[in-house]
Amino acid sequence: MEEIQPRALYIVSTPIGHLADISYRAVHILQQVDLIAAEDTRVTRKLLTHYKIATPCTAYHSYNLKKATPQLVKRLKDGETIALVSDAGTPGISDPAYSLVTAALEENITIIPVPGASALLPALVASGLPVNRFVFEGFLPQKKGRQKRLAMLATEERTLVFYESPHRIQKTTAELLKYFGNRRCVMARELTKKFETFYRTDLTALNDLLKAEKIKGEIVLIVEGFSAKRK
Ligand code: SAM
Repeated sequence: MEEIQPRALYIVSTPIGHLADISYRAVHILQQVDLIAAEDTRVTRKLLTHYKIATPCTAYHSYNLKKATPQLVKRLKDGETIALVSDAGTPGISDPAYSLVTAALEENITIIPVPGASALLPALVASGLPVNRFVFEGFLPQKKGRQKRLAMLATEERTLVFYESPHRIQKTTAELLKYFGNRRCVMARELTKKFETFYRTDLTALNDLLKAEKIKGEIVLIVEGFSAKRK
């Protein structure tokens, strides 16, 4: 396995549910680095315990970015090697990473991605909706800019991928229906976990289902792109 580079920041993807969805390389890197910067050290500790990794962890999340970013960059400049992980999936994808990556690049720190799981691709490839071109929207803005964004996306022709929480999914589905009209969509729930479910349906039926039933778990929502022919 590769030698760990000093003065490098590794961006390491971790599982989105199934603990086996981690690469040999990721485990090796997490074992070898000086420090793991983790979104929630308690969540990451479970993964590390499973793989018998004893590397020290420090917290790096959206609430301590301002303070923690310069501290981590200083350690990198001093020659340490750090792995950045998030609670699940790929850091930087709707998770903290951007501030640290940009601050590290300003100091000529080497950034090394260690690819792996992320929720958007498994949801997309199993959806049955066109995958040749797609746009990842992540979470819609909750308040400011939400309506504008929805209006802008209404004519997007590529397949749309959204992240959403179970508490907001019904509201979002209702608004998508209002702005987009009825379209095919797929709600992928609890990917790689015991209760993984794909609802291959349309926005009207999904909205009716969500009004009738509270859905639990983590969700990726895939929506068919705009088609002038369909209108
Ligand atoms: N960094 C992660 C990634 O690479 O996918 C995303 C982190 S974001 C804070 C969390 C959101 O990702 C969840 O609200 C959900 O929309 C989606 N997600 C994460 N794990 C999932 C899973 N196992 N099944 C479905 N969606 C998931």
